[in-house]
Amino acid sequence: MLDVCLLGTGGMMPLPHRWLTSLMARYNGTSILIDCGEGTQVAMKEKGWSPKPIDIMCFTHYHADHISGLPGMLLTMGNAEKTTPLLMIGPKGLKKVVNALRVVAPELPFELQFMEITEPEQTFSFDGFRIETFRVNHNVICYGYNIVIERKGKFQLDKAMALGADMINDVSGGEEAMWKVLAKHRAPYILTHACEITSQCPTYDATMSQVLDFLQARLDMLRRLGVADVVVDPGFGFSKRGLCNMWLLDTLPQLLEWLGDIPLLVGASRKHFVREITGKNDIVEASVAFAKLAMERGANFFRVHDVAAHKHLI
Ligand SMILES: [Zn+2]
Repeated sequence: MLDVCLLGTGGMMPLPHRWLTSLMARYNGTSILIDCGEGTQVAMKEKGWSPKPIDIMCFTHYHADHISGLPGMLLTMGNAEKTTPLLMIGPKGLKKVVNALRVVAPELPFELQFMEITEPEQTFSFDGFRIETFRVNHNVICYGYNIVIERKGKFQLDKAMALGADMINDVSGGEEAMWKVLAKHRAPYILTHACEITSQCPTYDATMSQVLDFLQARLDMLRRLGVADVVVDPGFGFSKRGLCNMWLLDTLPQLLEWLGDIPLLVGASRKHFVREITGKNDIVEASVAFAKLAMERGANFFRVHDVAAHKHLI
């Protein structure tokens, strides 16, 4: 989570209850300070935040009301026994300005590193986030900052259905909210066994009973919610040891019998366990052979990468 604290929003001179412009952000163990006017330390103390973990300082420009708090801040960080490097980002002249201010704070137990912004827009990448800089209007060179956190997109089933998706190939094992949307759209659904059986299932029987319990619970729920069109994928290669996958392959006829009218899908194409069993890197042929064996044991559908190779042999 990103915490943001506006330490100050004032200009020119610090006032009681309104400190000079400064923003502090904390993300994933990194603290970032943007601008450090006179009195920023007091504002920080008031908010209960600490200057010690600041790893990155950014400066918009070098007017005193945005940077004159720096020497005192650096000394406080040194007194707090900060030893990790402090990275400074700012417009051209950064090193010169900071070194001038450091005349009154010469001894620091941590290293200062400098990254000067030389382009109208420049991006600095860090672990899990990036800082984007862009020129803004002022009577000296001045930059704005965006802190951008990379986040994985979230699949929106309802939107996908509205855009014309015909079926949902779900390898997560599913959850109720998703199934309710599926029921609304009357869409076909591939239910995949996806729970961890690597360590808990040392035997064939234990593997099978875990797969069947998992499927039974979900099929009951899907039926209750009105998702009628279900295809079952026993999840070859999903958190399963090499041997578990071979047990599953052997037992496909029994699984099909257990499933009754529900079709079975097999997806073993280019899976790690095929590589493990064959000891080869190129496993297209082995994937096809696996699919062929599954087909002989009654599998109805196949999820593959190499369509031409599978089409040829199946
Ligand atoms: Zn200014």
